[in-house]
Amino acid sequence: MNFKIQILGSNSAIPYFNRFNTAQIITVHNEPYLIDCGEGTQIQMRRYAVKYSKINNIFISHLHGDHYFGLFGLLSTYKLNSRNKALTIYSDPKLEKMLKSEFSPINLAELGFDVFFVNLPKNDQVIFENKHLSIKTINLKHGIDTKGFLFEEKNGDLNISKDAILKYKLSIDQILSVKAGNDLVINGKVIPNKNLTLKLPSPRSFAFCSDTAYHEPIIKSIKNIDLLYHEATYCQDNTEKAAEVLHSTVIQAATIAQKANVKQLIIGHFSSSITNLNLCLAEAKPVFDNTILAKDGLTIEITRKHELIVTE
Ligand SMILES: [Zn+2]
Repeated sequence: MNFKIQILGSNSAIPYFNRFNTAQIITVHNEPYLIDCGEGTQIQMRRYAVKYSKINNIFISHLHGDHYFGLFGLLSTYKLNSRNKALTIYSDPKLEKMLKSEFSPINLAELGFDVFFVNLPKNDQVIFENKHLSIKTINLKHGIDTKGFLFEEKNGDLNISKDAILKYKLSIDQILSVKAGNDLVINGKVIPNKNLTLKLPSPRSFAFCSDTAYHEPIIKSIKNIDLLYHEATYCQDNTEKAAEVLHSTVIQAATIAQKANVKQLIIGHFSSSITNLNLCLAEAKPVFDNTILAKDGLTIEITRKHELIVTE
């Protein structure tokens, strides 16, 4: 089953040539999750063939326009497409108030489908869970309340070996008990569960950290993950400005990745003042070699063996 990250926008503040504002699709076991929805996200979804009608959960990291201005248009399109499935939006509670106010550009009551809101919590905690996945918030350091999101795959059910079923002539009840993790007892002899079940692949993980100043407390949340997306709005020559506006430099993003021992870093949310992104990469690599640049349309598949397949 798949675990895939697709970048729809890689620029900060304003859309730039070939660099739209932040939006990413995280697909886990064929279920797509949208993180942030900057201006132009719908265009990018069409350009990169995202089946946006399948999205049931949208996560908005914070209420700066470059991370959610596309949401109004997307909701309007869902209405025009006669969507009837419920949609859940995870965000700062101010977004719900905004959408329910008399000045809202969207009338929720007229959409034709339910929109549920989940308020992002003050402290880091799990906000979404299903059989395959849990999503936990990560507190970031920005001018307003801002959350990152940690996507962690779950192990799923144990698989019992066919050889074990045949060898011990297991009944349905015994199979269910072994799949639940129990040892097997036959004629008083204990057969350990690990001798009956197949080794599960280790869970895959991805963290989205945007927007934030250099903030070491996030390291504990993202230790050893497969892939970290960390904003890198500025190059080193703008270190002071980055601190002033609570964003990170490329080197700071790479330092976080190195200290957290992640397998791969992807940097994005670039300032429009950066025209040659290869300069960013050249700054990051001496600090953390496994760094790649976010690029609109880029996908990264994390395989079961934890290999990363990058496709432009
Ligand atoms: Zn921001």
